[in-house]
Amino acid sequence: MAAGSVVVIGAGLGGLAAALDLSARGVAVTVCERAAEPGGKMREVEVAGLRVDSGPTVFTMRWVLERLFADAGLALDDHVRTRRLTVLARHHWRDGSTLDLFADRGASADAIGAFAGAAEAQGYRDFIARAGAICRTLEASFMTAERPSPLGLAWRVGLRGLPGLARVSPFATLWSELGRHFRDPRLRQLFGRYATYCGASPFAAPATLMLIAHVEQEGVWAVEGGMHRIARALAEAAARRGATFRYGSEVAAVLARSGRAAGVRLATGEEIEADAVIANADHAALRTGLFGAPAAAATAGPAPPRSLSAVTWSMAARASGFPLLRHGVFFSDDYAAEFETILGRRRLPDDPTVYVCAQDRGDPDDPEPRGTERLFCLVNAPADGDTRPPTASEIARCEERTFDRLRQAGLSVTPEQAVVTGPDRFEAMFPATGGALYGRALHGWSASFRRPGARTRLPGLFLAGGSVHPGAGVPMAMLSGRLAAAAAAAHLARRSVSTRGFVPAAISGGTSTA
Ligand SMILES: Cc1cc2nc3c(=O)[nH]c(=O)nc-3n(C[C@H](O)[C@H](O)[C@H](O)COP(=O)(O)OP(=O)(O)OC[C@H]3O[C@@H](n4cnc5c(N)ncnc54)[C@H](O)[C@@H]3O)c2cc1C
Repeated sequence: MAAGSVVVIGAGLGGLAAALDLSARGVAVTVCERAAEPGGKMREVEVAGLRVDSGPTVFTMRWVLERLFADAGLALDDHVRTRRLTVLARHHWRDGSTLDLFADRGASADAIGAFAGAAEAQGYRDFIARAGAICRTLEASFMTAERPSPLGLAWRVGLRGLPGLARVSPFATLWSELGRHFRDPRLRQLFGRYATYCGASPFAAPATLMLIAHVEQEGVWAVEGGMHRIARALAEAAARRGATFRYGSEVAAVLARSGRAAGVRLATGEEIEADAVIANADHAALRTGLFGAPAAAATAGPAPPRSLSAVTWSMAARASGFPLLRHGVFFSDDYAAEFETILGRRRLPDDPTVYVCAQDRGDPDDPEPRGTERLFCLVNAPADGDTRPPTASEIARCEERTFDRLRQAGLSVTPEQAVVTGPDRFEAMFPATGGALYGRALHGWSASFRRPGARTRLPGLFLAGGSVHPGAGVPMAMLSGRLAAAAAAAHLARRSVSTRGFVPAAISGGTSTA
């Protein structure tokens, strides 16, 4: 017997997590996804008969997924096989220097010592200890909990946690804080790049984002069968627990009756009634009216600055001349100029930092693929896909510079076939974003507190996904889905609909529990 009904709009990671949580607890869940398969940004592109991971490729905080499955009575290992990488990434600079970061901190410190000297190795040890302290402070108080205000956060961590909170350095930028740990500009660039994991510039993002360095040290995982396996496994698990998935179903409006969300209307005109609605589309789509007037009023507010977009190349290609590992970064010469071009002049970078995912490769000891392999390249771009998308010649010039940068490192890439995706295509897939891939720009000390929370002004309408608290990235989007599920369950409970033992406020964490 189902306990109430919920429609989830979108089968991105946030929507899937919400669907699994709710269906596992007896709620009748219908997921309406306009695409033909689950995953949203976690997508595969078929190139020359190969399925290339073309969204997230760096999988961290595995415990979030594991806990989500466990709370639904399932064992993650039965559904998704993962392997922890020993090398996090290989980094290359134009002067020919390379640096590998390892899952083992000691090995990373030794590599940094050999690369830039003993003082920098010590700087790294201090930096990573501090990143760990920040992560531990924010995990239970911020990431797995409902969106707090700055004051609310201080209240949550309590007196004992205040020294940890002080170490967060919320008012400093990531870049300035990195200057306190590293003199070598290459190391500042390497760790500053973590800001782009949230679509931010290291020159404007808060120092708090150094916690990503800790998160990576805790484990970067390769997923057997590709990242998209995670989305498929979540959808299968939710379906097994009773959720209904309707692919190719675009939602045109959130229905409101008697001041509450009451279901959705599809683009076909069909209406699906429900006790609550969880929207996994970008917050901007609701705010700008793409889901009708009640949803727009419920999420109204000033348009926030957008996070970064990207130009990506999904390829079946031959690669030679550089020892690629699974994750590779080829840095630009002048990081400040690169971000000024993208975010100030709103142009594609002249000298891009290029990320390369060689998904058929792993650690140095793994066998190299022979012949054609799957490659995914990404450079950051302004999120103007709706107002001023890059022209074909701008994309062509960006492509030339991207592959020149790889050639400069000795890496020759010969594509058999390539699919290029730019901000306009991302805008088409994720409407009202301009192609911004991570919600609002995380610039300035208060940006993390300005993301919308799960609840909206319309009772029964909840939000999930990378554009809402606790933020973008695969684990964060799943956590947001769990928070939305908890809020929806509380709503159902208030409406006297039994949710059979669901404890709305609790999300169990990896090292701590809310
Ligand atoms: C190129 C790229 C690289 C990335 N790299 C990483 C990485 O390495 N590591 C990492 O952790 N994160 C990475 N991310 C970020 C991560 O992928 C996202 O933060 C996360 O997947 C977003 O999930 P979401 O819940 O916001 O849903 P989304 O992925 O945004 O999905 C929303 C879903 O809603 C659907 N939808 C929208 N409107 C409607 C409608 N009207 N009706 C029905 N359905 C609708 C969409 O079709 C979509 O399926 C990357 C993202 C991209 C694009």
